[in-house]
Amino acid sequence: MEQIKEKVQACYDAIKKAEEELERLRKLCKHPETEYVNYMWAPGHIQPHTKVCSICGEVIIEEEDLGWQSISMGLGGDQYEK
Ligand SMILES: [Zn+2]
Repeated sequence: MEQIKEKVQACYDAIKKAEEELERLRKLCKHPETEYVNYMWAPGHIQPHTKVCSICGEVIIEEEDLGWQSISMGLGGDQYEK
């Protein structure tokens, strides 16, 4: 029983680590390739025809009112200042 518990814990740790890696990847990724998919943002909630990055799977928000300022903020781009 203890062995199973350890195995489960190890799996959770691996998932957590993978999610952190993915998080890092998404921050670095410039999303050069995108595709439209049916994106499941929560179990049972599927948003059809959503643009996501083919590399890291990040959802690309296309709403125009987002503007360049808010986009560049997330990228930590000093080159956009001034
Ligand atoms: Zn990406």
